[in-house]
Amino acid sequence: MSTFRSTNPARPAEVVAELPLHGAGDVDTAVDRAAEAQRAWAARPVPERADAIAAVGTVLRARKAELAELVSREAGKVRIEAGGEVQEAIDMAAFVAGQGRSAMGEVVPSELGSKLAWTTRIPVGVVGMITPWNFPVAIPSWKVFPALLAGNGVVMKPSELAPACGVAFIEACIEAGIPAELLQVVHGGAEPAAALATHPGVGAVSFTGSVPTGRKVAAAAMEVGPKLVSLELGGKNAMVVLEDADLDLVLDGALFGAFGSSGQRCTSTSRLVIQRGIAGEVVERLAARADALRLGDPLEAATDVGPVIDHRSGERIVGMVDHAVQEGAKVVTGGRLRTDVDGCTGGTFVEPTILRGVERHHRIAREEVFGPVLSVIEVDDLAEAVEVVNGVEYGLSAAVYTRDINAALRAVAAIDTGITYVNAPTIGAEIPLPFGGTKHTGNGFREAGTRGIEQFSQVKTVYVDYSGRLQRAQIDNREA
Ligand code: NAD
Repeated sequence: MSTFRSTNPARPAEVVAELPLHGAGDVDTAVDRAAEAQRAWAARPVPERADAIAAVGTVLRARKAELAELVSREAGKVRIEAGGEVQEAIDMAAFVAGQGRSAMGEVVPSELGSKLAWTTRIPVGVVGMITPWNFPVAIPSWKVFPALLAGNGVVMKPSELAPACGVAFIEACIEAGIPAELLQVVHGGAEPAAALATHPGVGAVSFTGSVPTGRKVAAAAMEVGPKLVSLELGGKNAMVVLEDADLDLVLDGALFGAFGSSGQRCTSTSRLVIQRGIAGEVVERLAARADALRLGDPLEAATDVGPVIDHRSGERIVGMVDHAVQEGAKVVTGGRLRTDVDGCTGGTFVEPTILRGVERHHRIAREEVFGPVLSVIEVDDLAEAVEVVNGVEYGLSAAVYTRDINAALRAVAAIDTGITYVNAPTIGAEIPLPFGGTKHTGNGFREAGTRGIEQFSQVKTVYVDYSGRLQRAQIDNREA
């Protein structure tokens, strides 16, 4: 069987893992195995499944440092953020395990006597999961735990750019006692992913990645028959800063939001939509802070900004910056590709970049950059800021910084995103609440929170009539 390698983005000559390159036949085998194992798993009581998921949390906690190091090595995430990512998976295990002993449906009073009416959740069978490279442990956990709780088998296709993290996560699940056959992993890029999405034995497809790929996956999956297809796609997240904001807080939030994970989060702050009167001061102070960020090996504690995932991605990001300059924007700081960072031979970095003079129609103001680039868009007031925030196809995350409670709540009401923060950056979602976006960012499903299970299960409505006679809803005891 042919193989492929994942490498360390900081030093691409360093191979992290070598994995088999799977094809459609391997996907068939994986789906069959997961389907076979799923029957016994689904027969277990939900709290028992929940206990098994809680046990995975314990294993993840014990292996947190080791997994975080792998995330740094394979996805280029700086140490502290890699630790946060593994913690997210640990938190998700605890949350989903708790869900296993909570309400999973509704009970309503029947309109008829001696009759019960409730809903419950039933598994879909096998869930096909296609995941991106940028949260290679957390995103699998967002999908695998609720899918297991719902009683499903899993076939996961992790990103070919960070497959070892996906494998390590699945190994932790198996080490904790989840049956190995229930959790299948296939490797490679578009080919096994497309085979998985279109497999007739897959009852739900859960995809996280870019908008163009998500569209293809959804269209192909629906071609082979109706199934659950959930999409968590890209973002063009904005931070709105009003004149009365606490500017120190703004600087901390913008810096973390825009340049954390080298801007490669779906929720990264990509636009700073700021009232004109304070733009000069904020941009100047922010540029000084951005300049001081240290590029380096993500494994070094002193590193603030790691590499981008690969050279092609770096060229694409800098290409977008160059295009913005052609359209009239000015580079305040950064803007260059760096391949000379100490200890990172062959690694590609993009300097933390701030662009001023960006207009809302510029390409850089509308398209996802997925790199450490912050576009500053100046506005007159909150109403114009909201227009800018909403004037893109994406709808994932937004933030508003102000000390005025009325302005903050007006912004929350008017901004069309799945997640909105007040006086906190566009990144930093917590597990117990739903995560996802509006418009082209998704198709209405949410990950995490109590709704996370909806991607992986169907609702069954149950009526039990113990009257011993025919009772007719909407007819008996009603006016003619
Ligand atoms: P991507 O779309 O390139 O790849 C995602 C997955 O799709 C990978 O596993 C890849 O192998 C697979 N794939 C590629 N071509 C395919 C095809 N033709 N058919 C089926 N599958 C295919 O995304 P990426 O670069 O890995 O991740 C970055 C993107 O993911 C960004 O747009 C980011 O915003 C988004 N993202 C969204 C969320 C969210 O929850 N909304 C979270 C993280 C990342």
